[in-house]
Amino acid sequence: MNLRVFKFGGASVCSDSGVRQVADILEKQGDDHVVAVISAMGKTTNALEEVLQHFRTGDSIAMIESFESVKEFHFQLLARLFPNTGHFVYKEIGALFNQLQGILRRGHLYRTEKPLYDFDYDQIVSFGELFSTTLVYHYLKERKQPVALFDVRTLIKTDSTYRDAHVLWEPTKTLIRNAMKGYFGNSQTGGKIALTQGFLGSDASGNTTTLGREGSDFSAAIFAYSIQAKEMIIWKDVPGVMNADPKWMKNAEKIDHLSYREAIELAYYGASIIHPRTIKPLENANIVLRVKSFLDPESTGTTIENISAWTIDTPIFIRKQNQVLISLSPRDFSFIVEENLSEIFRILAEFRVKVNVMQNSAISFSICVDEDIQKLPPLLSHLKKDYETRYNEGLELYTIRHYTKEAIDRITQGKRVLMELRSRNTLQLVTK
Ligand code: ASP
Ligand code: MG
Repeated sequence: MNLRVFKFGGASVCSDSGVRQVADILEKQGDDHVVAVISAMGKTTNALEEVLQHFRTGDSIAMIESFESVKEFHFQLLARLFPNTGHFVYKEIGALFNQLQGILRRGHLYRTEKPLYDFDYDQIVSFGELFSTTLVYHYLKERKQPVALFDVRTLIKTDSTYRDAHVLWEPTKTLIRNAMKGYFGNSQTGGKIALTQGFLGSDASGNTTTLGREGSDFSAAIFAYSIQAKEMIIWKDVPGVMNADPKWMKNAEKIDHLSYREAIELAYYGASIIHPRTIKPLENANIVLRVKSFLDPESTGTTIENISAWTIDTPIFIRKQNQVLISLSPRDFSFIVEENLSEIFRILAEFRVKVNVMQNSAISFSICVDEDIQKLPPLLSHLKKDYETRYNEGLELYTIRHYTKEAIDRITQGKRVLMELRSRNTLQLVTK
């Protein structure tokens, strides 16, 4: 009996045909046991972030409008999948929307308290995964599949760093193992598919937490690690891991094999194909990760495993948009030395701003970070006390692994390079 973990992303479950395809893929697994981790449908997470934005500013008209459009999207999908409008799923999804509405109505309790933004985020945005799994669960039931729905918040325990929660591995491992053993090992239920939410967890007080945007891959890896799965498959709307995002680069090619190490590097530099935290638990437990095409399940995709031979001979391109370059010079004309650097990093950590690239010279220090309207303004005003700050926005950061001259030319053509960093395997360019 094989034990597998599947992850279906938002793009897979954004339409009725997508949900049907999920069911088709699961049906083909025969007697194998599968944990299926599901994200919010389509762009639901972004849409709920918008609801949250209006909730925080207290714009109730805009908030209701954005809430209603999320609701409408889900009910349209329901109508296509469940022609019988008396089906129980309508009641359950309706109840979830009522619950969310209840939280939004209580908005005035939290609205003015800035530090609670991350808390509010997790309580509101987490509904996307609750909607999607409820819907998929009932659809699989309709198709007579041996499935059970698990609320992942009872299985993945985290600290209370809302919006970026850290997993408490020991209790999580035990909870997942026990639940999955109980379910798959029970011959009475004959359960073969354990369906659950990606992205979510809960803290010691039982509040919902989230693992960071696109965190469902990581959720799946937590399951794979905990139950020692044979393999994990991420089902994607691309044929596998490509050497560039085909949405912006023509002639992107699929990479057949990657080492864990290379995959970690790619994720670290921002390749959106896999969430950065995903690989390590899989590597530790030596679990093969496959990235496969959702629309063409029979094709081979990309295999990520413990290969030591260096197999990559094509350059791999990673683009990050909406970058900001911040340059700092000490106001007291001092050099940039260990003391200011450690102070700058302490401040960055305090404001939870992640540095994508950095470079320093005698009297200035430059960092490239993601644009973030929540985090950057307070960070900058804090830094301005001691540093002359320059700020350049609307930039792009390109990383080329295994770069060649042609690869560099391809990226820099017609662009102004503001910063360049080169190591043996990796080149990074900040461009305008
Ligand atoms: N729904 C969440 C997001 O879009 C988590 C995920 O998709 O992995 O960020
Ligand atoms: Mg998503």
